[in-house]
Amino acid sequence: MPPTGKIYDYLVIGGGSGGLASARRAASYGAKVGLIEGSGRLGGTCVNVGCVPKKVMWNTASIAEAIRDAKEYGFPDAAPTKFDWYTLKNKRDAYIKRLNGIYERNLEKDQVEYITGMASFVSKNSVTLGNGEEIHAKKILIAVGGRPMIPKLPGAELGIDSDGFFDLEHQPKRVAVVGTGYIGIELAGIFHSLGSQVSIFSRTQEILRPFDHIIKDTLKKEMLSVGIEIITNSHVKALAKASDNSISLSYEADGKEGSAEYDTVLWAIGREPLLEKLAIDKAGVTVNKKGYIVVNDYQETAIPEVYALGDVCGIEQLTPVAIAAGRRLSDRLFGPAQFKDSKLDYRNVPSVIFSHPTAGAVGLTEDQAKKEYGAENLNVYVSEFSGMYNAMKTHKTPSAFKLICAGPEEKVVGIHLVGLGSDEMLQGFAVALRMGATKADFDSTVALHPTSAEELVTLTKGNLKKISP
Ligand SMILES: Cc1cc2nc3c(=O)[nH]c(=O)nc-3n(C[C@H](O)[C@H](O)[C@H](O)COP(=O)(O)OP(=O)(O)OC[C@H]3O[C@@H](n4cnc5c(N)ncnc54)[C@H](O)[C@@H]3O)c2cc1C
Repeated sequence: MPPTGKIYDYLVIGGGSGGLASARRAASYGAKVGLIEGSGRLGGTCVNVGCVPKKVMWNTASIAEAIRDAKEYGFPDAAPTKFDWYTLKNKRDAYIKRLNGIYERNLEKDQVEYITGMASFVSKNSVTLGNGEEIHAKKILIAVGGRPMIPKLPGAELGIDSDGFFDLEHQPKRVAVVGTGYIGIELAGIFHSLGSQVSIFSRTQEILRPFDHIIKDTLKKEMLSVGIEIITNSHVKALAKASDNSISLSYEADGKEGSAEYDTVLWAIGREPLLEKLAIDKAGVTVNKKGYIVVNDYQETAIPEVYALGDVCGIEQLTPVAIAAGRRLSDRLFGPAQFKDSKLDYRNVPSVIFSHPTAGAVGLTEDQAKKEYGAENLNVYVSEFSGMYNAMKTHKTPSAFKLICAGPEEKVVGIHLVGLGSDEMLQGFAVALRMGATKADFDSTVALHPTSAEELVTLTKGNLKKISP
């Protein structure tokens, strides 16, 4: 049957970080590009319910902390003041709305056709928006992202997820955060710094499981020391409505049953691909055991000319990763010959945690480095210190840096930072690691003083840490 609807060179499903980047890059090479977005607003998770509004909230929390610190810095009248969550939320929403508009105008400017609706595959070359019309394309990109998971527990619907965090109109007084990945830790930190009473439920002894011990141990200790409760080895069993409209949370921790009441319970137990509306089986696209789309190094699915990238593939679920993968793919598919092998190198992707203080990592953790190189071939340098911002303060926010070096040349294979400013510090050091810098390169770089970053270029034999095999 001949095609009934529009025909594109490239049809992108999902107007989030990866989809927008790939569509615009493809159009810049003259391809006829369509982009379908189902939520009614462009920008995806990052812009609407992720990085961007989260960073606004983290900035807000940091201001609350600075106000608390002000007295010790010689502002005698500085005192914690009332925080108006509702006003900030509305201002933040208006900012996001402006960004949605900018994204729409960018598509127009770049001549990407913006199509609104939820796409489902009809075949490997065509999709429908459920209105009877089919949209056809030579090549299709799936960039539909993911969504937060909600556990199957009695009363689970009484809790909110990270999307719901951004809908809160008023600040809850007592909050339970279930889950200790970076999203749970970040949102718990924001609540706490703004004055909520926070309990975190962790299934294990640890928080931030995939990160290096220096980050997870330092942050856990600091969170406990500022009054965040962390209930370890715990399993939440049920939520129920309590008489005063609060939520009663029952759990088991270390084999003992317990319950507590909260105004808000936030599930932060992980994310899953957003695929059920897409009918990928009609295109023949396959998924792995966790439901993520399987792709090769070139973002190719098992079906020729159907590609996937970003959170829906479940690898390094970060905005810049989705953007970079999207641009590389369009360079390869539509760009000049020099890009014929273009693909994203997923190794050594840096990531930060907007905790209090912030943390960041690039390269291998100590455990990974031991597996890859053997403990006997590693030198691990550690510096634990109190940054100068603390000089006038009673509560000393900790800093802890780790440099993992491999082989006789001491190639830097892992950098793990926690402490004020780690988020901004890491980017440049990630460049150095990617370029194959050695400890000697770090040592020969003149320090910036007085900063926390200078610790990384002044590590000596005295900082060497004994490592167990
Ligand atoms: C709370 C939170 C904080 C975060 N903080 C950070 C951070 O600080 N730094 C960072 O790098 N990353 C952060 N992330 C992760 C980041 O947001 C994601 O990695 C990124 O948005 C993934 O981009 P994507 O293009 O794969 O998907 P998305 O950005 O999720 O975009 C997918 C789009 O596809 C649309 N869609 C879905 N199904 C269909 C369909 N069938 N038809 C049409 N459209 C469809 C969706 O509506 C969505 O707009 C955070 C995430 C969360 C949840």
